[in-house]
Amino acid sequence: MFQGILITKDDAGYRAGLQAIDEAVLPEGDVTVRVAWSTLNYKDGLAITGRSPVVRRFPMIPGIDFAGTVESSSHPAWKAGDQVVLNGWGVGEVHCGGLAEVARVKGDWLVRLPAAFTTRQAMAIGTAGYTAMLCVLALEKHGIKPGDGEILVTGANGGVGSVAIALLAQLGYTVVASTGRVAESDYLTRLGAASVIDRKDLSEPGKPLGKERWAGVVDTVGSHTLANACATTRYRGAVAACGLAGGMDFPATVAPFILRGITLYGIDSVMAPQAVRVEAWERLARDLDGAKLETITSEIALADAPAVADKLLAGQVRGRVVVKVG
Ligand code: NDP
Repeated sequence: MFQGILITKDDAGYRAGLQAIDEAVLPEGDVTVRVAWSTLNYKDGLAITGRSPVVRRFPMIPGIDFAGTVESSSHPAWKAGDQVVLNGWGVGEVHCGGLAEVARVKGDWLVRLPAAFTTRQAMAIGTAGYTAMLCVLALEKHGIKPGDGEILVTGANGGVGSVAIALLAQLGYTVVASTGRVAESDYLTRLGAASVIDRKDLSEPGKPLGKERWAGVVDTVGSHTLANACATTRYRGAVAACGLAGGMDFPATVAPFILRGITLYGIDSVMAPQAVRVEAWERLARDLDGAKLETITSEIALADAPAVADKLLAGQVRGRVVVKVG
């Protein structure tokens, strides 16, 4: 038996809470990991609260990511004592996840913990931070350079947004942070935002084309915000879309694509190939300021995860939340 958050769904309803879990609940896998830290991402909030049908098998241990130490392995790449990180692959959705003391997964899903990070730091970054890096890589590979103009980051106070701002500022880009919490502007400028705008400026239905402003965009919000971001991106600029915090719809026109040649990059962290993950983690080790990472991180106990999941979905959590598991 081990401690963890378990989600059950039956006639009595959808419930998530800390309890002793029998090892028989764990799925098949060739590596068993003693989890040290996990995190709360937006998707974990959806899973724990049942707000969206993220969990597709019950009972389920939520937690789309974790960092810890291999306890046993029959996978050739891993041996007991190795420190590992896992993001995505359906873990916490269809395969039991990181919000428990023990996880059993496929060795092919694991990434070696970068030497630059402790397990806690790796989860302070978590799926949100690794996704932020995937967005930054997409803009870089498009050819956008510091000095090319302003980069818009939406959902700025959230996990993806906070890490994206820190990374882009460290790399020398001029970052404009869009937020519903303008009162948190000091936090955003300390992270490296050059200026802060109210998310209302982007969240109402807009025109097919607006005044050209952004050299690039990291969007975590979707819906009208993404459509307006595209409509105000400069000629041949690029938008990296990774989130739906404001809605899953995309009420846009083709005008920015066919008249301004902008590019919309879809960013998926869940099924990203191993080489992409390794590149992202290597770049995080190089480009993310450890002191800034600590300022955006708050720590909770496993038992607090359900209550904090509610707050996260209500937009009341700033930055990243690490969950002490081990
Ligand atoms: P957080 O909850 O930490 O941050 C989301 C932020 O979005 C909030 O802090 C808030 O920022 C803003 N926001 C919330 N509600 C609304 C709304 N109704 N309208 C506009 N803005 C809103 O989540 P994460 O950073 O973990 O994730 C952000 C998004 O990215 C989520 O949709 C998540 O599902 C997605 N994601 C996708 C991944 C992928 O692989 N594609 C991987 C990881 C995340 P503020 O208060 O500053 O306005």
